[in-house]
Amino acid sequence: MSSAQRREYLAALGIDTWVLRGKTPAPGAREAEAPLEAPAFEVPAFEVPAFEVPALKEGREAGVDWTELESRVAGCTRCALCKTRTQTVFGVGNPHAQWLIVGEAPGAEEDRQGEPFVGRAGQLLNSMLRAIGLARDEVYIANVLKCRPPNNRDPLASEAGECLPYLEQQIALIKPKIMLAVGRIASQNLLRTEVTLGRLRRQVHRFGLSQVPLVVTYHPAYLLRTPADKRKAWEDLKFAREVCARV
Ligand code: SF4
Repeated sequence: MSSAQRREYLAALGIDTWVLRGKTPAPGAREAEAPLEAPAFEVPAFEVPAFEVPALKEGREAGVDWTELESRVAGCTRCALCKTRTQTVFGVGNPHAQWLIVGEAPGAEEDRQGEPFVGRAGQLLNSMLRAIGLARDEVYIANVLKCRPPNNRDPLASEAGECLPYLEQQIALIKPKIMLAVGRIASQNLLRTEVTLGRLRRQVHRFGLSQVPLVVTYHPAYLLRTPADKRKAWEDLKFAREVCARV
């Protein structure tokens, strides 16, 4: 992606970008002495994850392909959310993606459409991905829960425990290089911790049985309500991009 395109996407995210004095600023860019790209930051060693991630109670099952897995999820009754869903929201994207994006659970619109991250939050997620050179159809997008909790309440730990083995199966099929957990709820459920999102950021964790490197950032719905934190999300994305390049 060219610098001009990246500036456009960052402008769409509401993040100020900077060009050197004397150059013609792209739309949304401000003139300044600052360099175009922030200096690279340190990526912590993978060998020292900040938090232990307990193994899921149920391991992966060998020989389950996409069709079988999707059909199992569509008919799943392992938790009470099966009674209130319109449909399951399995996931969408490239089945061989390097990046796996994971949110918490379907909302009302996702429950209606059967696809994760649609609506305004989905559009912002798309812009965030484009800012690091990724198209939506290049990544795979899924949720911790495949069914919508009523009234958009937070997922229960028991529901996440029942549903996460499906994500493990998806990971076994996709074999992503990196997972990006978006939002506090997804991050805490994936890492089985109550540590705040602020403390989980800017570290390389490992997820479950697969031990895929996992980086956390803010949920786009939160960023729509709190645009001041978009810059931190941009830092997280750059961090994740560096981690992915080193895997
Ligand atoms: S949330 Fe997951 S475990 Fe619960 S019914 Fe839906 S697919 Fe099954």
